Amino acid sequence: MNNILTYVELKDSAPVKLSLETLSKASEIAKENSKESIALLLEKISDDEIKNLQNAGADKIVIVERESYNMEEYSNVIFEISKKYEIEDVFIPGTLDGKDIAANVAAKFDTVSVTNVMDIEVENDGIKYTTPAYGATVLNISTIKKAPRIITTRSGAFNKREDLNGKGEVVEENIEKLADLKAIIRDIVTSNEAEINLEDAPIIIACGRGASSDEIFPLVKELADAFDAPISGTRPVIDDGVLPKNSQIGQSGKIVSPKLYIGCGVSGAVQHVSGIENSDFIIAINKDEDAPIFNIADIGIVGDCAKILPLFIEEVKKIRNN
Ligand SMILES: Cc1cc2nc3c(=O)[nH]c(=O)nc-3n(C[C@H](O)[C@H](O)[C@H](O)COP(=O)(O)OP(=O)(O)OC[C@H]3O[C@@H](n4cnc5c(N)ncnc54)[C@H](O)[C@@H]3O)c2cc1C
Repeated sequence: MNNILTYVELKDSAPVKLSLETLSKASEIAKENSKESIALLLEKISDDEIKNLQNAGADKIVIVERESYNMEEYSNVIFEISKKYEIEDVFIPGTLDGKDIAANVAAKFDTVSVTNVMDIEVENDGIKYTTPAYGATVLNISTIKKAPRIITTRSGAFNKREDLNGKGEVVEENIEKLADLKAIIRDIVTSNEAEINLEDAPIIIACGRGASSDEIFPLVKELADAFDAPISGTRPVIDDGVLPKNSQIGQSGKIVSPKLYIGCGVSGAVQHVSGIENSDFIIAINKDEDAPIFNIADIGIVGDCAKILPLFIEEVKKIRNN
């Protein structure tokens, strides 16, 4: 094993939570193997944010400035920096952009990438990556024979560390821009849908089909407001247009890892559960006592959301007001 490179995805000039989780894991492995953990940024960030990278174990913080996101351009920077620093392991946060980039970087190195990694074991004969399949009912263990090994990480699988105390040396590098980009982003238009940052939210209220009626949905909204938390939905709720697409959680939506997830009228299908299983604490309200969500819930409330939610909201408001 050689030094490990982590690509740090930024949002509003700060690392997204999954970037810090990914960097923390890379740094733990680097420390255990007496290697360096190198963080790569494509934009300058504040000293406070640099400190966060150092706390997550970055020994070196390499900055290659680019004006805006372009998948080919970003992949090329990761490719060139990996070669320059003789990197054998590239860790990429498994965001939508991260998954795009990982495949492209792997293609450039004529190798493959393993995506959605939830556990990593370094052994004498190689590195084993655990990834979920079939809605996390099956776990795959894979290895990559050819270095550099490129992986994307799963949200919430690794702890964000603040105690790793890397050297944090900042290095600016100049990588020539690609001359012949196949796709150029001319303009970025913000969607009408309000931006929902579910991945970083500490509390998430989820609305399932059982709570999406005109009668119950306002109560779900009120509960979310009481917690000051975003509302997410299961796929049928999104398909019915009750909530926007960017609020879908699950296999074909977002993978989340809040401290508290509250599912209202959610049955607990594997495709949904695979997106919430890294939550620290799960509360489920469902009127069917046999609903599968109760198998993973820390607290299960059997009852009608129309009756339970007003009581729940009242209690939360009482606590918050005190
Ligand atoms: C390829 C594929 C990908 C998919 N991707 C996703 C995904 O990313 N995310 C996702 O969520 N789903 C996904 N699905 C769909 C998934 O299989 C389920 O159909 C979906 O998660 C079920 O949503 P639900 O729990 O809201 O609805 P239902 O399964 O219909 O459950 C509704 C629940 O509400 C309860 N209920 C009804 N009324 C009340 C009430 N008044 N009070 C309390 N409880 C009540 C019922 O008992 C029931 O358990 C995918 C499916 C496929 C095939």
